[in-house]
Amino acid sequence: MTPAAYLDAHAGDLTALLRQLVRLPTVNPPGEHYAAITALLTRELQAAGLRAQRLPIPPALLRKRLPKDQHGYPRFNVLGKLAAPGATRTIHFNAHYDVVPAGGGWRHDSPFSGAVEGGWIYGRGTADMKGSIASLLLALRALRATRTAPRLNVEVSFTADEETDSALGAGWLVEHAPIAPDYAVVMEGGEGNAICCGHNGVVWLNVTVHGRAAHGSLPGLGINALEKMSALVRALDDHKRTLARRTLRTPAGKLMRPTLNVGGVFAPGPGGKINTVPALASFSIDRRVLPGETVASAERELRAFLRAAAKKIPQCRITVDKVSDNHPCYTPPTHPFFAAMAGCVRRVRGGRTVFNVSTGFNDMHFFAAHRKIPTLGYGPGGEHEHGADERASLRELLRSAKIYAELLTTFGG
Ligand SMILES: [Zn+2]
Repeated sequence: MTPAAYLDAHAGDLTALLRQLVRLPTVNPPGEHYAAITALLTRELQAAGLRAQRLPIPPALLRKRLPKDQHGYPRFNVLGKLAAPGATRTIHFNAHYDVVPAGGGWRHDSPFSGAVEGGWIYGRGTADMKGSIASLLLALRALRATRTAPRLNVEVSFTADEETDSALGAGWLVEHAPIAPDYAVVMEGGEGNAICCGHNGVVWLNVTVHGRAAHGSLPGLGINALEKMSALVRALDDHKRTLARRTLRTPAGKLMRPTLNVGGVFAPGPGGKINTVPALASFSIDRRVLPGETVASAERELRAFLRAAAKKIPQCRITVDKVSDNHPCYTPPTHPFFAAMAGCVRRVRGGRTVFNVSTGFNDMHFFAAHRKIPTLGYGPGGEHEHGADERASLRELLRSAKIYAELLTTFGG
């Protein structure tokens, strides 16, 4: 029996495994049920024949990196290894197991049910990205059951906290875990016939405008922070126009531009009242950074623009704080690794393949930019990630399992 035939015969196991993962609501923040899911994932890797261990984040580091209200939530990453006979090189598969909070408006009784309907499995994390985990685990089971050896040594990591900043997840893994990958597959960012070869980075800033409170009946005595903030937000249109002139053409021929989104979070200061001149107003900036730009230069440029713009607005005093950043990455898909993956995708799915650059970020940059190894993004994906009725296609889950198995058995480095 071939791994593909095994997978066809065990499609139900894939769905059952994904449902089991979805029913552990690993919501981040704050980071719930991490102990339970990493224990399960470690057992699953071992059952598939890998040497697997759970790597806990040291408590001192956890306290240093996480906000106080999350200190009671331990962090773990899972690492599995499988040696291939005679292989000198290693391929690494990575997925994050945390999910964003569920929100409301779901059609099934629970966002964590894993209900199946019309060829789709529903639930928070089905598409982003527990489906990828289930597909890979089934591919590994298929290799073991059919006594098919991979052509490269295999490393698998399931990591925490991608939905916040990955610092204690993939960020920690590439710095501290005993890994030695030559190639990496981060199992999201590309899906269908599109393979991801890079993604945007991001700089998140928070801007606070400092005014002066006064009685609402005597606004002339105060400095209205909201009015100053509005002027500053309008001024940012200039910066948006500058950014819109920069372009990156992806291998698929799509033009990408850096973007700026303001006010995903905006707030008055404490003690705001209808009859008070607001003394404080703040808003967030989400600046997407193209591969080819750097987060450092994007931040420097944005801070300089804000400083200059505030200077032009009378009595507009601001402070700017960094919330976080994430590096962009891009590997030209000329390496044989990319051609091998494209061949696997075509053999399983048919049709042409394209290489894309994702506007959102994922954990690829930890492997591509930090470890400097050829890194691609590919997984079963799905629909409504981060929204209500998130779902993954059963057909695509099975296809991804076959593609992973095909890559493991055909790509020899
Ligand atoms: Zn994700």
